[in-house]
Amino acid sequence: MYPDSPWHALGTDEVLQRLDADEHGLHDEEAARRLERYGPNRLDDQPPPHPFVVLLRQFTSPLIFILLGAAVLTLALAEYLDAAVIAVVLVLNATIGFIQERKAEGAVRALMGLVVPRARVMRNGHEWEIDSRDLVPGDVVLLEPGARVPADLRLLWVNTLQIDESLLTGESLPVNKNTQVVPEASVLADRTGMAFTGAVVTSGRGRGVVIATGNHTALGDIAGLVRSEVTERTPLQQRMDRLSKLVGVVVGVAAAVAFVSGVALGGSVNDMFLTAVALAVAAIPEGLPVAFTITLALGVHRMARREAIVRRLPAVETLGSTTMIGSDKTGTLTENRMTVTVLWTAADRYRLAGESPTSGFVASNPDGPGPDNDPGLRDALTGAVLSNEAEVVRTEEGLHTAGDPTEVALLVAALGAGLEPEDLKEQHRIVAEIPFESERRFSATVCEHATDEGLLHVMWVKGAPEQVVAMCQSLATPQGPVPVDAELILDAARTMAAEGLRVLATARMDLDHHVTPGDTLPQPDGLTLTGLHGMMDPPRVGVREAIVTCRRAGVDVAMITGDHAVTASAIAAELGIGHPDIPVLTGAEMMDLSEEDLVKRVDICRVFARVSPEDKLRIVKAFRLRGDVVAVTGDGVNDAPALKAADIGVAMGRGGTDVAREAADMVLTDDNFVSIAAAVEEGRVTFDNVRKVTFFLLSTGAATILAILMGVWLQWPLIMLPAQLLWLNLVTNGLQDVALAFEPAEPGVLDRPPRRRREGVLSRVLWERTVLSGVVMATGTLVMFRWELDRSGSDSMAQSVALTTMVVFMALHVGNSRAETQSILRINPLSNRFLFVAAVVAMSLHVAALYLPPTQYVLRVEPIDLAAWVRLVPIAASILVVVELDKAVRRRRARRR
Ligand code: ADP
Ligand code: MG
Repeated sequence: MYPDSPWHALGTDEVLQRLDADEHGLHDEEAARRLERYGPNRLDDQPPPHPFVVLLRQFTSPLIFILLGAAVLTLALAEYLDAAVIAVVLVLNATIGFIQERKAEGAVRALMGLVVPRARVMRNGHEWEIDSRDLVPGDVVLLEPGARVPADLRLLWVNTLQIDESLLTGESLPVNKNTQVVPEASVLADRTGMAFTGAVVTSGRGRGVVIATGNHTALGDIAGLVRSEVTERTPLQQRMDRLSKLVGVVVGVAAAVAFVSGVALGGSVNDMFLTAVALAVAAIPEGLPVAFTITLALGVHRMARREAIVRRLPAVETLGSTTMIGSDKTGTLTENRMTVTVLWTAADRYRLAGESPTSGFVASNPDGPGPDNDPGLRDALTGAVLSNEAEVVRTEEGLHTAGDPTEVALLVAALGAGLEPEDLKEQHRIVAEIPFESERRFSATVCEHATDEGLLHVMWVKGAPEQVVAMCQSLATPQGPVPVDAELILDAARTMAAEGLRVLATARMDLDHHVTPGDTLPQPDGLTLTGLHGMMDPPRVGVREAIVTCRRAGVDVAMITGDHAVTASAIAAELGIGHPDIPVLTGAEMMDLSEEDLVKRVDICRVFARVSPEDKLRIVKAFRLRGDVVAVTGDGVNDAPALKAADIGVAMGRGGTDVAREAADMVLTDDNFVSIAAAVEEGRVTFDNVRKVTFFLLSTGAATILAILMGVWLQWPLIMLPAQLLWLNLVTNGLQDVALAFEPAEPGVLDRPPRRRREGVLSRVLWERTVLSGVVMATGTLVMFRWELDRSGSDSMAQSVALTTMVVFMALHVGNSRAETQSILRINPLSNRFLFVAAVVAMSLHVAALYLPPTQYVLRVEPIDLAAWVRLVPIAASILVVVELDKAVRRRRARRR
């Protein structure tokens, strides 16, 4: 069955043999067979919370406590029908809440799970990126900084590989890895020749063969211990909790006031108890928690549809108040599809011959040696190939490429110029290397190749021009090396950068001594510069427009890149980021700035170049000090602190590292800036909808409290019975509040400034409108009650009319709630079909309840006559008129300001 050997105590050859594998990886058919046999590489999912727990949770809201109290009270008063109705409502509410919450949680969980971990493997002799769930024992996995080890590996090859195994061993310092055999009895932490699932590569490179997957891994053994998921309450949820408590207190006080003042005015204790219960029951917005959960879940869903996967729920609402987006350049603002279009050598400046990246190069200097006779050109291309971790192979379907797009571009250029990268790499065996890391800005290899004079060792370096030039002593020319003029080279690089090109320099050096494999290379020095490679990376389609939209919406955009200042500013100008007259701030300049000075600079500066991850962290903090709500992107190993420090950390689903993705609040499935802008929009819509639901529920609650209190003070009979109020609250109201969660974006969502972060669930305008509409609806209901009581002399007829008035009020008021400022006449009633249907269904249910005997009995309602309808509909319509007037006045005032 499962290959079970003391892998750490076996030599690599033995390991490969036992796994029936080799270092070039498995073939697809074999991998498929093994997948069948060993199952997917996945730890058993964390079970969702037990259904019973979720059910119990439905009864823990302060709002429900009051209802429970009401049920007990009515029971004590021997009002069995009311008690039964309250009980039914409690059960119904719990059931609906239970179903909705499970569904919403399931959906959110599924969406968050969309970010699948990927693994770089060798398959069929080439490098591929696959879903890490498809890994099988025998697969050869490549490790690079920022990656989480996707399965348990026996390491075959390492280069200064360091891994953080704290997840398994608790040891927080990264450990050095090698390929050595250790005694069988060694503990996990001492098995240096192994890499275990879940550990994080902090630096270096490595290659290992999978020896165990899924639950058979070391992590699988202890998985139960580490997989404790903390579900945090979002700020909005916390605010909602506070609001619920507040509402609970207000309702409690109102009920007490009704009781005390009613008794004081001479009402019977029994009656006044019932009134107080009715009031509590009516005013409690039990639907609020459920509607809120649904709104957030829908927000997450809508963002996912627009390529933004929310990993932490608070992001949904924070996005809505974002004021600054700090974006990477490469890959997010641009395509990350690089093409070398300019090649500079001491002899000439070559240009790509045609449209295709493989079309070769043409000279621009007629007196130059030409591309075929320039040894510098050949050396530059060779260097770019040999100090390169990417892979490009010709296949029947075209080029198969794997690796960093920058490096791929160099290989493709070499291919176009007539070099065969695969052959070159075969002739030049790598004996030592310094792999590229963003902080270092260069990479180097020492290759060994056979010449007539025997084996020759050459060091090949490529990297950012400033970096490489500093390590150079001479410049390669057709006439042989000459002393390098750093200014001349950097000028040439700047000219290329000014065209928006990303520039890399290449250099070489013949070594007079041999390097032994595994030696750590010292910092290169005394090199000969061979050339400059300028690559074009077109801006992504739609980014320019998205930036304009962001600006209009009060969200500023900054570019934060590791690239050259001149390249950055050329691309920024093309995309409309920042102002052309405000200079780019570089990481080097930032070093001399204090935190206060930096805050002053970020006030105007929008393009940051040659920044390291630490600089990025400082920039994020400076923006936050300035008062911004910052969303920032990051992809590297060391970007995690910046992502965490930002209000919204954004990582890339395709490019980027596992570490960055895990630190992020949101992951873009398409790596595209446009998706960030879309998420900001959806964040606003979600918050708007939470607001709409809350406003609707609170204003109807206010209406019922007022109506009942007024009734008590006027010493009228009870306006509505508890059961009727529950009907109103749960059936007619409950349908419509949930439907409000489905409101589409208001047309102006991106034309107004971001919501201030401290602003509560309801704005002041909405609080005032809550009171206003509460008064109008209460008055209307009281008027109809009195009218019907005087006319028919029947309490229950009057109650039925009052209840119906309230139902119609709500069906209309839900329309008011759809927009904060916009006139209802401007909103298409069908643009939220759920709401339209909910309103129609609620009305139909109520009409049915009025005229069908069973509900007449339970709710104690009477069939009201046509005349009553004719009177109550215009009265109910008053809520439309009043709220419309309120909106118009406020729009007017806003315009004058
Ligand atoms: P960004 O992704 O923001 O453009 P990077 O940190 O990836 O910035 O790159 C910074 C600089 O390092 C680039 O401008 C380039 O000069 C150099 N560079 C990028 N990729 C490589 C690589 N694979 N090898 C050598 N140098 C590189
Ligand atoms: Mg990069």
